[in-house]
Amino acid sequence: MNIQKNVSLKPYNTFGIDANAAYFSSFSTVEELREILSDKKLPSKKLILGGGSNVLILNDLQAVVLKNELKGIELLFEDDRHYYVKAAAGENWNRVVQYCIHHNFAGIENLSLIPGNVGAAPMQNIGAYGVELKEVFSQLEALEIKTGKTITFSNNDCAFGYRDSIFKQQAKDQFVILNITLRLNKEANFNTTYGAIASELEKMGVSTPTIQTVSEAVINIRKSKLPDPAVIGNAGSFFKNPVVYTSIFQALKSKFPELPGYEAKEGFTKIPAAFLIEKCGWKGYRAGDAGCHTKQPLVLVNYGKASGKEIYELAEKIKKSVLEKFGILLEREVNVF
Ligand code: FAD
Ligand code: NAP
Repeated sequence: MNIQKNVSLKPYNTFGIDANAAYFSSFSTVEELREILSDKKLPSKKLILGGGSNVLILNDLQAVVLKNELKGIELLFEDDRHYYVKAAAGENWNRVVQYCIHHNFAGIENLSLIPGNVGAAPMQNIGAYGVELKEVFSQLEALEIKTGKTITFSNNDCAFGYRDSIFKQQAKDQFVILNITLRLNKEANFNTTYGAIASELEKMGVSTPTIQTVSEAVINIRKSKLPDPAVIGNAGSFFKNPVVYTSIFQALKSKFPELPGYEAKEGFTKIPAAFLIEKCGWKGYRAGDAGCHTKQPLVLVNYGKASGKEIYELAEKIKKSVLEKFGILLEREVNVF
């Protein structure tokens, strides 16, 4: 176990924010993690980091930043309809997706190429192209920071919601997720109705989709549309898409006829936040090195040397203008430290 002092977090967050951690250590076994957590000389504040693709760091952190390096993917067992795959929290998420595709395990092909690690996937119930983690999630094991005990959470226990879970609510900062078990399908039930998947499959000359080709279509769309953090710092969608009463959506639609909306739970409509942000004039905006992406305005970007505070201030301005124009309060998706 090697605990370092005053470590720059720039290589560890995809926004590329250059802030320091007072203490930094990685752990590749649960024993190492327990040892660090029980060290009373270290600050009590702990930050668990996976791939750093969903965080915005505002200041130097007077905390112990713990980089999760737990590894391993295994097929636990199978029954008539499902395969149960366990993956350690420090595995790259897309590696797990590719493992499943390679073995013909269906259910997460639409979640191809989401950056980050397995341990963060339940945090916000990752989702893309009409599929959410909760649809294939069986259980996870997490270590309670206060007691060092390992606790199992079922799908219900996680209280998954739209980009939400118990780990962002009541259980925030209390657990280190150690591994998750997915319940993949033997018979694929493709969701290709979403966005550009169908047209991309057509472009690829695919008439009968397979797990592999759906994954490829998703990867092609993502590569063409989303900024690569290795080129421009970003953390994906900065805000969630707001879900409003359908009556509110209809009232707005009479004022802004081109306003898109998607049916959510009964009586509610989801509005793409990107539309609202673009209509407020922010698409392609840049102040210093902080900006709003030129193709996808829901993604805030760091062109180089923006500080976490500059990105945060831009986000607050965007929130204010969307509230003034549409009466909708955007909620942040990215975790701010
Ligand atoms: P981190 O950023 O390291 O951490 C995120 C949060 O989880 C933090 O609060 C952290 O403390 C906590 N955490 C991390 N690991 C653990 C653990 N083991 N135990 C307890 N807490 C932990 N998200 C989607 O849902 N869908 C998308 O389609 C999508 N596309 C993206 C595209 C781009 C280009 C980018 C940059 C991001 C995108 N994201 C998307 C957001 C992000 O990739 C996901 O939220 C991902 O799950 C974050 O994983 P991470 O390991 O990088 O988490
Ligand atoms: P898009 O296809 O341009 O669509 C814009 C928004 O409208 C999406 O965010 C999506 O909401 C919603 N939408 C589109 N078609 C829909 C349908 N048929 N039914 C219901 N809702 C629909 O979106 P995009 O920006 O290219 O992203 C594609 C997918 O990847 C989305 O699912 C998005 O969430 C995901 N993604 C997430 C992040 C992140 O950081 N969280 C970053 C990039 C992409 P939903 O977001 O609810 O799906």
